[in-house]
Amino acid sequence: MSTSGHLPDRPGSRSLDPHLGRYAARAEGMTASEVRALFAVASRPEVVSLAGGMPNLAALPLDFLSDQIASIVADEGLVALQYGSAHGVPLLREQICEVMALEGVTGHPDDLVVTVGSQMALDLVTRIFIDPGDIVLAEGPSYVGALGTFASYQADVRHVVMDEHGLVPEALRAALAAADQAGRRVKFLYTIPNFNNPAGVTLAVARRAEVLDICARHDVLVIEDNPYGLLGFDGQVYPALRSMDADNVIYLGSFSKTFASGLRVGWALAPHAVREKLVLAAESAALCPPTLNQLVVSRYLATHDWKGQIKSFQTMYRDRRDALLAGLAQYMPAGCTWTKPDGGFFVWLTVPEGVDTKAMQPRAVTARVAYVPGTGFYADGFGSRQMRLSFCYPPPERITEGVRRLAGVLAEELDLLRTFGPTASRSLSGPQTPTPDTA
Ligand code: PMP
Repeated sequence: MSTSGHLPDRPGSRSLDPHLGRYAARAEGMTASEVRALFAVASRPEVVSLAGGMPNLAALPLDFLSDQIASIVADEGLVALQYGSAHGVPLLREQICEVMALEGVTGHPDDLVVTVGSQMALDLVTRIFIDPGDIVLAEGPSYVGALGTFASYQADVRHVVMDEHGLVPEALRAALAAADQAGRRVKFLYTIPNFNNPAGVTLAVARRAEVLDICARHDVLVIEDNPYGLLGFDGQVYPALRSMDADNVIYLGSFSKTFASGLRVGWALAPHAVREKLVLAAESAALCPPTLNQLVVSRYLATHDWKGQIKSFQTMYRDRRDALLAGLAQYMPAGCTWTKPDGGFFVWLTVPEGVDTKAMQPRAVTARVAYVPGTGFYADGFGSRQMRLSFCYPPPERITEGVRRLAGVLAEELDLLRTFGPTASRSLSGPQTPTPDTA
């Protein structure tokens, strides 16, 4: 097993990392996420993966795109293949402002920084605001990639509970009061208001102003992470938090889910005063975002019916969501509950007391179905009775089959629980090789 968690050790290499004593303290917080650790297993063809969050690109107009990319290189090659500004291509920044206008945001292109995916924007924002030990509030559960970033800057993450209407304002007040009482500084609230990853829930519009008001009163910045906002299954679009408070919200956006994740084009729209620090941080991280990729996105927005394309993504993901929800209703044993997302990629499943989803995972892999255990989405060890199921990638009939397999594993697990006690206390071997898929 590799000590870095992703590269296989070379034969004969020592498994103990000889550099252990050299790492900066912040590297201690860097560990492979539950999602990545699962990636290899879940990618096997016989396994139905309800684990990864890969967007489904099959509906993209590939011939059109390859013509466009060829013509960008032919017509603008000397610009497209050159360094650009850390701020991003000016035309693309204007176009992104038009995209955000769909959610009521009226940002100025000067206050927008193009990044290498919104993941980089998350990193930059954390870098410029967080000192080790600063408190970050995040929904519980929250996006695993954000938790990884916060850990790498040694933030102290405190979770705020959600219900089916998203973040609970009362719980936010309580978390802020607890920090005040302890004399601790909360730097920002990190929130995914629309079609939350992993919970699938959306912050009720009626709660949005209240959440913003609470944060403003406590002098706490809001980081609004919104990669799924345009993927409402009925075409519904919710007003961005940023549209309600331009001075205290940094909005993070992405083309990963609405166009192409591999282009790695995202952005941050910041209050004017913050913009300069963000650009400086972006410069030191990457000099500039890739020019060619920005021009590809810009050309796509200018020449393609991108809104129609998003509509077709909505339909495709809705069909998959429907398959997952129908499968859960048909197969899941009594005592399981789950969220019912109206957009995005994810359902959050809670299993009966006593079942530990992480300990159960090897059995699921043996049964050729993969999910992500809930603990990966919490910084504090919570989530052992939960799991994230994603419906974005497999076709509907595979999703149905995946849920059937998962339900079988859970039913067995519940039998074992009745006979032998909680999962976590039973010894389980690691993932076994699944038998060939005959289903
Ligand atoms: N935020 C959330 C909530 C996400 O789900 C993801 C991707 N899974 C990201 C940010 C990062 O997306 P990207 O870097 O591809 O824009």
